[in-house]
Amino acid sequence: MVERITFGGTGIEVTRVAFGGIPIMRLSKPEGVKVVREVIEMGVNFIDTAYAYGDSEEKIGAAIQDFSRDKLVITSKSMAKDKDTFLQHLDIGLQRLRTEYMDIYQMHGVNSEEDMEKVMGRGGAMEGLRQAIKNGKVRHPAFSSHNPIIAKKMMLTGKFQAIQFPFNFIDNEAQKEIIPLANEMNIGFICMKPLGGGLLDDAGLCFRYLMQFKDIVPDPGVEKSDEMKQILSIIQSPSPLSEQDKVRIKGIKKELGDSWCHRCGYCQPCSQAIQISLALIVKSVIKRMPYESALDFMEPVMKNVKDCTECGECIEKCPYNLNIPDLWQKNLAVCEKYKKTGKTSVFG
Ligand code: SF4
Ligand code: SF4
Repeated sequence: MVERITFGGTGIEVTRVAFGGIPIMRLSKPEGVKVVREVIEMGVNFIDTAYAYGDSEEKIGAAIQDFSRDKLVITSKSMAKDKDTFLQHLDIGLQRLRTEYMDIYQMHGVNSEEDMEKVMGRGGAMEGLRQAIKNGKVRHPAFSSHNPIIAKKMMLTGKFQAIQFPFNFIDNEAQKEIIPLANEMNIGFICMKPLGGGLLDDAGLCFRYLMQFKDIVPDPGVEKSDEMKQILSIIQSPSPLSEQDKVRIKGIKKELGDSWCHRCGYCQPCSQAIQISLALIVKSVIKRMPYESALDFMEPVMKNVKDCTECGECIEKCPYNLNIPDLWQKNLAVCEKYKKTGKTSVFG
């Protein structure tokens, strides 16, 4: 039996690990449905997806028909900032998932002051979330974010029962204030990017690190049920981080340096309306998404990048001192090669 915890103030019992629905987008429908079924059969009861994840909601919807709905905890999310679109996404999500309610529904990617004003303001997504709870379509309100300042402000509104935020040993900002505040306010914490969003490949090390934090639920995206089996074996017999692990973590951090984007959004807005953090994560998108979806994502984002005037304002605002125009020049080359070859071997 997979260990469970009570998820913040929701009262729901969730397994110590959730299933993240991004990678099944790459699979055929029968394969994707099979993976979700097998993961549930292994005892995982917490399934996370999003309106924006291609046919992920649909595959999960087909898979969960074989199980008792009240034994599962389903969460999805919408990036819409306005009430009407948010409610449309929710209704489509419910149809695709073939369920009458979402246990938890998240406002997806509230990353800037502007996002927060839109979702919390008049006619914003929060009004939709409130209405959906009243109508019984959603049980618990939540949001996801990459920006610690905004995440903190959103939690302090007192309107949310769950948050999804990145956390792993290279991106551990959440440890300072976000996780302690979530615990203090009894807000459930879904840990986004437990494997560093594709940057880290040692699942044992990642999960031994995360299991030190008792009240969080890592949400790894898995493409094969064997990957979840491996994760479950680590979390079911957790061992503390060894001295060797600590040395390895230090080495990996040093190797990666600070040349990767944390998606905190501090560099926005850009005078040329470039979506900076999206342009910096294309490698991770290529790794995790099917070819067509990766192209759909990266083409508009990278096209816009060419408007960069190299004014340098974003570099000044970036707390990690990333040389942004330089990084996406490299990403442009990766994208061009990927477009031609369709291979992730571009990473060398
Ligand atoms: S350097 Fe380019 S991306 Fe950065 S703020 Fe200026 S125009 Fe925007
Ligand atoms: S470029 Fe820097 S400031 Fe902008 S999102 Fe990435 S890490 Fe944050």
